Amino acid sequence: MKKIIIALDGPAASGKSTTARLVSRQLGYIYVDTGAMYRAVTLLFQEKAVRPADVTENQVRLLLSETPVSLKIVDSVQHVFLGSRDVSEEIRSASVTAAVSEVAAIPSVRKEMVRLQQAMGKEKGLVMDGRDIGTVVFPDAEMKVFMIADPEARAHRRKLELEAKGQTVDFDTLLKEIKHRDHLDSTRDDSPLRQAEDAITLDTSHLTLDQQVAWIINKAKFFAEGSPDRLQKIN
Ligand code: C5P
Repeated sequence: MKKIIIALDGPAASGKSTTARLVSRQLGYIYVDTGAMYRAVTLLFQEKAVRPADVTENQVRLLLSETPVSLKIVDSVQHVFLGSRDVSEEIRSASVTAAVSEVAAIPSVRKEMVRLQQAMGKEKGLVMDGRDIGTVVFPDAEMKVFMIADPEARAHRRKLELEAKGQTVDFDTLLKEIKHRDHLDSTRDDSPLRQAEDAITLDTSHLTLDQQVAWIINKAKFFAEGSPDRLQKIN
């Protein structure tokens, strides 16, 4: 099968990362979680006491050149680094989650992250998940999927995920946080969350993880062949 780029976009907690990771493993592709990159920048801002509302383009450039964000595979799992420090766990904190959408709305931050993301796509054979992959980062990606699920299903899944890590979080709080993040991500000026015109929709509200993965793998084969007739039938 020819190597392609699979762009996977969608709102918060729609199951993108878990699905993307499994799809990439089955296809032997590289997986890139772009949300982790924006989360790492947010952690950096918090540690340096940078206020998103006041930051200038020069400050962003300087900060990210002193402490670059990078992704590395450790034991077959993607880890995110700030400089030489592995921050993969820290970026999942409630305080980073609450602040990330404001930081991700800053154009100079997006510019730096998109540059890094595009560089990772040079070789193809890539599954990248985020909010603007099919619209901005790889508008020519061979396959674009927009994953959706109703907010309640997403909050429920996130609750189970956190409980598995030993954290107890109230369902209504999670639901509110998810809806708030969706609102900020889809109403910002720069690269808002939206479905690319040529993306196919995958509603995961009533699907198991295995079903989501199989759905994508199955369609990826057609997209890799690049037959327009077939693509129309898929849509
Ligand atoms: O995917 P995840 O929920 O970890 O993303 C965290 C945040 O990063 C999102 O809510 C969004 O604000 C931002 N993000 C983005 N563009 C991407 C990926 C994530 O703006 N491509």
